[in-house]
Amino acid sequence: VQVEAMTERDEREREEGPESVSTRTCVGCRAIAPRGDLLRLAALGEAPYVAPDLERKLGGRGMSVHWSRVCVVLAAKKGGFARALKRSVTIDPEALADDVVRVVVQRAESLLVAAARRKKLALGTEAVREALRGTGVEVLVIAGDADGRPEELEASAARLGGRCAVLGTKTSLGRLFGRDELGVLAILDRGIGDEVVRCTVRAAAMRGVERAEAE
Ligand SMILES: [Zn+2]
Repeated sequence: VQVEAMTERDEREREEGPESVSTRTCVGCRAIAPRGDLLRLAALGEAPYVAPDLERKLGGRGMSVHWSRVCVVLAAKKGGFARALKRSVTIDPEALADDVVRVVVQRAESLLVAAARRKKLALGTEAVREALRGTGVEVLVIAGDADGRPEELEASAARLGGRCAVLGTKTSLGRLFGRDELGVLAILDRGIGDEVVRCTVRAAAMRGVERAEAE
């Protein structure tokens, strides 16, 4: 029992590392990266065996992977998951990557809802235009299927240092605020704006083949 307890602790320490060590190895490409640049996956006792742990709160054994569909697929194909879990497992990397996209988008959506409660959002073209006359706009969020991409919005995004995030659809954005549709909104809080941009970059990288750039 004692040996087992020791082993578990060693494993935890190897994974979590002492506080001074802040790097992890990607279970896919096996590159070492700062902890904050990698997604934590928590180990589950049964299928699907791993689950995204965005907040790093699930505890137990886990592993780290780049915010990249490529690395998730590599981990499944090259045995990275099996190595980390110390058992032979069948993990569907496409389903896992889709699951990560879903939870990251949900996080961005809940951040927007929280921002609305704090009156830190401008909703819809008119309100966004009005907000852009001032200096409080941190990030523009545009629905993926928004009509056109009005030049005015693009120019505004450029003025904000390209701080423009594409998220969901007009319908999914609208639903967050009790509207049928919403094509554009502006975030007026820097912290929330930063985090929403981070979420959308990561979701895009997990959806496609590009790796989210380290920040
Ligand atoms: Zn990787």
